[in-house]
Amino acid sequence: MVKPKRILIAGGGIAGPSCALLLARGGHRVTIVERARHLRATGQQIDVAGKGVDVVKHMGIWDALKERSVGDAGIKFVDQENRSWADFPVSTGSTAASFVKEIEILRGDMVEVIYERTRECTEYMFGDQITAVTDHGTHATVSFERSSVRDFDIVIAADGLYSRTRDLVFGKSAVCIRSLDQCAALMSIPWEESDGTWSRWCNAPGGRCATTRPRVKEGLTGAYLAVMTKDSSRLARMSVEDQKHEFAKLFADMGWEAPRMVKEMMNADDFYVSETAQTKVESWARGRVALLGDAGYCPSPVSGQGTTLAFVGAYVLAGCINSCDEYHEALSKYEEQVKPFVDKAQQLITGVPGIANPQTGFGIRVFYSFLWIGSLLNGSRVAGLLGRLLAPLAPMFGKDLELPHF
Ligand SMILES: Cc1cc2nc3c(=O)[nH]c(=O)nc-3n(C[C@H](O)[C@H](O)[C@H](O)COP(=O)(O)OP(=O)(O)OC[C@H]3O[C@@H](n4cnc5c(N)ncnc54)[C@H](O)[C@@H]3O)c2cc1C
Repeated sequence: MVKPKRILIAGGGIAGPSCALLLARGGHRVTIVERARHLRATGQQIDVAGKGVDVVKHMGIWDALKERSVGDAGIKFVDQENRSWADFPVSTGSTAASFVKEIEILRGDMVEVIYERTRECTEYMFGDQITAVTDHGTHATVSFERSSVRDFDIVIAADGLYSRTRDLVFGKSAVCIRSLDQCAALMSIPWEESDGTWSRWCNAPGGRCATTRPRVKEGLTGAYLAVMTKDSSRLARMSVEDQKHEFAKLFADMGWEAPRMVKEMMNADDFYVSETAQTKVESWARGRVALLGDAGYCPSPVSGQGTTLAFVGAYVLAGCINSCDEYHEALSKYEEQVKPFVDKAQQLITGVPGIANPQTGFGIRVFYSFLWIGSLLNGSRVAGLLGRLLAPLAPMFGKDLELPHF
């Protein structure tokens, strides 16, 4: 048994609390500081696949996630007249090559499940954030925006793609946010008869794509508007009001379900904009501070593996801290063991996401023809390839990698 440590985690999303749960099992005193005033239990469908399934089972939350899963019947690729070109029904196992997984869950439900399991064993500080970390050799002193200064043995930055804690400790110059020139708005809108039980994906010229993902039981539909744009970083950092305004302008003439989506978007309280980008940092540890999840190695939503990687990272980081007395040994083992997963997840097919979001009507027809062939061959390797083009509806690959045992 290693000596118990005081561990601070910045970010109460998915990676941070998952790591907290496993660290608490190792007997450590864990504190989570979350910038939002309350739990951010929102977001659309995300999935757990590949090695992420092993991790959530190890965490003891698989059944709870399964209970809340929100599968749809499959996905249809439709044109602007709502004519289906290719249908892909849901797969029955996480190893099948299909676009839609057996287990998908709303991000908010997943966040709640993990929070419920951690609140007894973790101290949560909401509405605050780290402003400085000073390493004294024997411990680190952390200053906060609101709370008083405290000492910790290890600090973990799990505060997302635009991690402030990472920038503070590593410096902005050590971090590369690789934009893939796409930005997506996600929200829930009232379900309508036309949404049915299948997800629908519709491309339009200008690199635009609108997707509906029905959640009939809830009377809601997940709505996604994505656009290829060189302006994605700026769009992602605007105020919510400005983002809504920009997306309304971009999709005003798209047709299909876009006018309805734009109208409902104005009132959606779970509206969330995500830049399609990857985080690249040379090393995920600096002194006593480690990077976890999107803060260290976001693979981008188009990899379809952000959540799976967050779970794998949380499991390995907690496992290394729980089994090494020396923090530097734990953090370097963590990096060594997670790197192969990250390298694999960040490998995208050249041209993604542009290939799945053509600029012209001709490009869309070619793409849909390719999908049509893929739908006839569903279950084959062609469908697997298409899945990787179309993530986040794609399954986790990299099943060849093994998780370490702790
Ligand atoms: C509100 C929200 C909705 C999302 N919706 C979707 C979705 O629909 N589909 C999808 O694929 N992905 C979504 N994501 C992203 C997805 O959760 C992550 O890509 C992935 O699960 C990795 O998780 P993470 O814990 O590393 O990061 P995140 O889940 O992004 O969690 C980061 C957490 O850190 C907090 N935070 C930010 N800055 C600070 C700070 N300075 N100090 C302390 N805390 C801070 C954030 O509020 C958040 O709770 C969403 C993220 C958020 C925050």
